[in-house]
Amino acid sequence: NEEFIQQSEKLNVVGELAAGIAHEIRNPLTSLKGFTQLLEYKYSTDSDYVNIMIQEIDRINTIVSELLLLAKPGHDDFREVSLDQLIQNVTTLMSAQANLHGITLQQKVDRNLSSVMIKGVENKIKQVFINIIKNAIEASVVGGSIVIETMRKCDYIVISFTDSGVGIPESILQNIGKPFFTTKPTGTGLGVMVSKSIIESHDGEWNIRSKEGEGTTVEVQLPILKE
Ligand code: ADP
Ligand code: MG
Repeated sequence: NEEFIQQSEKLNVVGELAAGIAHEIRNPLTSLKGFTQLLEYKYSTDSDYVNIMIQEIDRINTIVSELLLLAKPGHDDFREVSLDQLIQNVTTLMSAQANLHGITLQQKVDRNLSSVMIKGVENKIKQVFINIIKNAIEASVVGGSIVIETMRKCDYIVISFTDSGVGIPESILQNIGKPFFTTKPTGTGLGVMVSKSIIESHDGEWNIRSKEGEGTTVEVQLPILKE
C-alpha cells in the first residue's frame, strides 16, 4: 500500500511538471501560430508548407491543452457542483458532434439522483466527460448510440457511458490509459491518462470494460457530497 502511495505521488510530481512545461509552451506557441498565419497571407503561392506548419502547431496545441489539465487544482478551485446540471451541459455540448457522426447521445435520467451534489473542479470534470464521449464517438459508426446513466453506489455516484462501438481487444485493454498509448492515426493517447488523474484527484475512480465488436462502458465514480 505504501508503494501505491509512493507511486501515485510520483505521478503527481510528473503531472505537475508536465502541466508546468505545457503552460510555458503555450504563449510562444500562440505567437508562432500568429506569425505562421501571417506568412501564409504574405506568400500565399507557396502555402502548402505553411499549411503543414499550421497543422503541426495545432497538434502541439492539442497536446499542450491536454497536459495543462494535469495541473493540481488549488484548494479554492473545489466547489459544490450539481452533477445533474453538469451532465446536462456536457450532453448538450456533445450532442451536435454526435449527431454529425450519425450517433445518438442519450441521457437516462434518474429523478432520485437529480439533486446530488459533488465537490470538485467543474471544468475538469466536464473535460473528463467530454474526453469519454469523444472516445465513444470515435469508436462508433453511423447508427450507433451512446448512453449516459447515473446510479448510486453507497456514498458514491456512478456515471456510466456505454457505447455500441468497435470495442477494445482484450490484449490491449491493459494499455488503455498509459501515457501516449493510442490506436488512432492522429491520437495523442493522453485523454484517458489525464481523465484518470483528474478523477483520482477527486477521490474517485475511473474504470473501463469492453468487448471487441460489441462496445465499451466507461464508469466514473465520485463521492457524493450531499443530496
Ligand atoms: P486518443 O483518443 O488520443 O487515442 P485516449 O487516451 O483518449 O487517446 O484513448 C486511448 C485509447 O483508448 C484510444 O486510442 C482507443 O484505442 C481506446 N479507447 C478509449 N475509449 C474507447 C472507446 N469508448 N471505445 C473503444 N476504444 C476506446
Ligand atoms: Mg481520446
